Amino acid sequence: MNLENNFRSLFSASPDSIIVVDLERRIVQVNPAAESLFGWSLGDLQDKRGQILYADPRDFEMQGKRRFNPDAPAQPEPYIVHYRTKGGRVFNGETVGVPVTDDTGEVTHFLCIIRDVTQRLQMKSRLEASEVQLRSALSSAGEGAFSFDLRSGLGSVRGFINEFLGIEAPDATMSLTRLMECLAPEYQPGFMATIDALKADSDQDLDITCRAQRVDETWRWLQFRGRISDFDRQGSAIRLSGVVADVTETETTRRALIDRERELKEALKASSMSNWRIDLATGKVCVYGDAARSLSGQDGEFVTSLSHWPDQLHPDDRSEALRDSRPFTADMSQSDASHELTCRLRSASGGWTWYRLIGRITERDAQGQAIQSAGLIQDISDWKQLSSALDDEKRRFEIIYRATPAMLYTINPAGEITEVSDFWLRHMEYDREAVIGRPAIDFLCPDSRERAEQLVFPRMIKGETQINTPLRYVRKTGERIDVIQSALTEQDESGQTRQCFIVMTDVSALRMAYDQLERTNRELDRFATVASHDLQEPLRKISAFSSLVRRRYEDVLDPEGLRSLDFLVDAAQRMQKLIDDLLTYSRMASQPLRLEEVDLDELVKECTSRLDAAIHEAGARVRRSTLPALQGDRVLIGQILQNLIGNAVKYRSEAAPEILVSAEREDLHWVIHIQDNGIGIDPRFAEKIFAPFQRLHTRDVYQGTGIGLAIVQQAVERHGGRVWVESQPGEGSVFSFTLPTAARSD
Ligand code: ADP
Repeated sequence: MNLENNFRSLFSASPDSIIVVDLERRIVQVNPAAESLFGWSLGDLQDKRGQILYADPRDFEMQGKRRFNPDAPAQPEPYIVHYRTKGGRVFNGETVGVPVTDDTGEVTHFLCIIRDVTQRLQMKSRLEASEVQLRSALSSAGEGAFSFDLRSGLGSVRGFINEFLGIEAPDATMSLTRLMECLAPEYQPGFMATIDALKADSDQDLDITCRAQRVDETWRWLQFRGRISDFDRQGSAIRLSGVVADVTETETTRRALIDRERELKEALKASSMSNWRIDLATGKVCVYGDAARSLSGQDGEFVTSLSHWPDQLHPDDRSEALRDSRPFTADMSQSDASHELTCRLRSASGGWTWYRLIGRITERDAQGQAIQSAGLIQDISDWKQLSSALDDEKRRFEIIYRATPAMLYTINPAGEITEVSDFWLRHMEYDREAVIGRPAIDFLCPDSRERAEQLVFPRMIKGETQINTPLRYVRKTGERIDVIQSALTEQDESGQTRQCFIVMTDVSALRMAYDQLERTNRELDRFATVASHDLQEPLRKISAFSSLVRRRYEDVLDPEGLRSLDFLVDAAQRMQKLIDDLLTYSRMASQPLRLEEVDLDELVKECTSRLDAAIHEAGARVRRSTLPALQGDRVLIGQILQNLIGNAVKYRSEAAPEILVSAEREDLHWVIHIQDNGIGIDPRFAEKIFAPFQRLHTRDVYQGTGIGLAIVQQAVERHGGRVWVESQPGEGSVFSFTLPTAARSD
C-alpha cells in the first residue's frame, strides 16, 4: 500500500506524461503532466481508445501489435511516435511502453511514459543541417576545419583537409601531432611554438602558413587560422579550433612577388638605381633606396609633394626639368610611353647631385585618367663628371686638331670631309664652310683623282693604314700641290669604320728639288758619256803617240827627255784610269737597282776568281764562313765585295794576307765582315777614306785612285745599309757593311 502511495505521488508529480491503458488499449488513467501535454482532461480521455492521442491511426495499430501484445511483451525500449494534442498540435513523443502485471504475473495493463522531444529533434536536425552546410561551405571554399583538445592533443578535422591527409572523416585517431607531421620539417617547430604561445595568451589569433605534403606527396601551402575556443574552470585554454585553407596559388604568387621585389631591389642597387612613385590624385611624391637616402639624409623613403618638387630642383635646371617632368605628372598624351629627364636635385647635405629619371604613367582609372606614375632614378654624378672630362678632352683635341701646324682632315665612311685643320684651310686657301661636308675627292687634281677614287680612299675606308701615299691636290686658286699623305682609320668594336684621319705634307718643294736632281743626273750622265768617249779619245791619242815618240826617237832623246816622255805616258794612263773609275762611280749611282736573290757565297767565289791573279801574286788566302742568300742588286753587291777583298789583298803587310769573309744576322739586316791582317788604318781616317779620291798613301807605295771605297759606300747606301771600318795601324782591318734582310728599292 505504501508502495502504491509512493507510486501515486510519483505518477502525479512526474514531469513526463504517464498514461495507463488496459489490454484493449483503452485509457484508464492519465497523470497531470499528460493532461497538460495533450490538453485533454482525465474525464475527456477515460475509457477512450488510445487512438485519440495519435496523429496517425496507422501508427496506433502498428505500435499496438509491436509493443502492446500481452502474449509477447516487448522490451521497454523508447520509440518515437507522432502524437496529436487536443488543440491539433502534432509533436514527437518519445515513448516507453511498460507492461503492468497482477499478482499472478498476468499482464493487465500497459504504462506509457511519453516525453515531448519535438524541440530536441528539431535542434538535432538543425544541427545536422548546419553540419552539412558547414561541410559543403568548407569544401566549396577549399577550406577545412579543425578542432583539437589541447590537453589530449586529440581532435577532429573536416573539409578538404581530410582529403589532403587522406583520412576518413571522422577519424578518432586524429591528433595535433599527426596534423603536424604533414608539415615540412622546417615549419614544425614554428607551428608548435605558435600553439604554445596561444595557450599562454589566448587573446592571440592563430595565423600561420606552412608548407605541407599531401597524401599524394605533392607539396602545398596551408594556412591555419583559428583561436582558443574553450577554457576550463580555471580559465586555461583547452580547445583550439579554426579553419585551414590551401593557399598554394596565393602563396606561390606572393613568394614569387617577394622574390621579384628582392631581385628588383638588388638589381636596382647593383645599377645604382632607385625607384620613385607619384600618386597623381594626392600629388604625393615618394623616392626610395639610395636616392631617398641622399635626398633626405636618412634611411627609408623620401616623401615630398608635387607642389614642393620645384624647390628640389637646381635653379639652373628648373624650367627645363619642370617641362621634361610634365609627362610624369600630367596626363598629357594618353600615352604610357617612357620619358626621361636629367637634372640636379638638392641633397640633404646641401649639395646638388645629378640624377637621371626615367618613368611613365603606370596606372589609370576607369575613365583612363592617369592616377599614378612611377619609374627609376639614377645618380649620374660620376657619369656627368666623366662626360664633362670627356667634353674637355674633346674640346682640347679639337683645339689641337684645328691649330696644329699640319694639314689634317677627317672623312666619314662616305668619303666626306667632317673636320679640317686651320693649317689645311690656309694652305689650300679655302674657307671651312666650303670644305666641311664635301667629298675629299673634290680637292684632288684630276690626274690623281682616279687613283684616289678607286684605290687610295676605298682602301683607307676599309681600314688599311696608309703611309706616305703620293697624291696631287689642287688649291682654290687652281695651283697644284704635290703631297704625301698618311691615313689612320678608326673603327668601332664591330670593325665598322667610323672615320679616317688624314695628314698631308706638301712636298711640292721637294718634288721640285727632285726634278732638279733628275735634270742634274741626266746632265751628269751626258757628261759621263762625253767623258768616256770624247775625253778618252784624246787621252788614248796622247798615250799612243807618246809611246810612238819614245820608240822612234829613243836614240835621239837624252835621258831627261825619255823620263819626261815616260811621265807623259804614265799621266795619260792614270788620267784614263781616273776617268774609268769616275764613270763607274757615276754609272753605279744612276743605274736603277735590280733586286733579285743573291747568294753571297757564290758571289764571293766569283770575286775571288776575278781577283785570282792578285791573290796568287800576294800569296793570299781568302776564307769564308757560311754566307746567306739575300735580296739585292747582284752587280752592286759584287762590286762591294770585289773592292773590299781587292783592298784587303792590296793593303797587305809583310805577312801573307789572310782574309775572312763572314756574316751575322742582326734583327732586320745582315752584317757582312771582310777581315784582313794587312797594314791597318789609323782610326782618325776611318770615315774619310770613304769619300771619293781620298787616299792615305802615295801612288808609288800603293796604286789606286781613291774611288773604290766611295763606290762601296754608295752601293751599300742604295740598299739601305751602312758601311764602316774598325782597325788599328799594323793590326789589320775589319770592313763591315749591312744589307737589309728584305731589301727595298730606292
Ligand atoms: P784606293 O785603294 O784606290 O786608294 P780606296 O777608296 O779603295 O782607294 O781606298 C781608300 C784608302 O783607304 C786607301 O788609299 C787606303 O789607304 C785605305 N784602305 C782601303 N782599304 C784598306 C785596307 N784593307 N787596309 C788598309 N788600308 C786600306
